[in-house]
Amino acid sequence: MCAFFDPPEPRRVAPGEYPAWDQALALLNRDLAVTLPRLEPLQLLALPPYDADEPEYVHVALANGEWHGNHLAPHSQDSPASALASVADAAQETVVERLWQAWPLCPEHDLGMHPREDAEGRLSWWCAGGSRRGSAHVHAAVGALDASGT
Ligand SMILES: [Zn+2]
Repeated sequence: MCAFFDPPEPRRVAPGEYPAWDQALALLNRDLAVTLPRLEPLQLLALPPYDADEPEYVHVALANGEWHGNHLAPHSQDSPASALASVADAAQETVVERLWQAWPLCPEHDLGMHPREDAEGRLSWWCAGGSRRGSAHVHAAVGALDASGT
């Protein structure tokens, strides 16, 4: 705690304030619910900007209010695809850095997966594959993980 500077309290974003990010976060929370069922859903928290002319800073946070990494880029709301990519990155960083575990895991290789566009342009969980068995592969679309193998 610093005696000279009180950081502003993050504000819980209400549903509908940022619809594109809400929809994206719903998909990430679906994946979270099947892979880490004991974890409560992620939420959007907002901090006032340093410069009053700027939009507020919105972060993807754990239910306990902790997050890690940069705020969501405001322009990522311009399309559902960029909103999903942005929220997936932020959600993964928060879960990985705050819970100290790779997430989500590839059930085949037990490796942390990363969001990438698949051949059809859908954002999917991509696994680098094992050195001995199997190569890099797309496991499932973001929002479509299931509990099998976890
Ligand atoms: Zn894999």
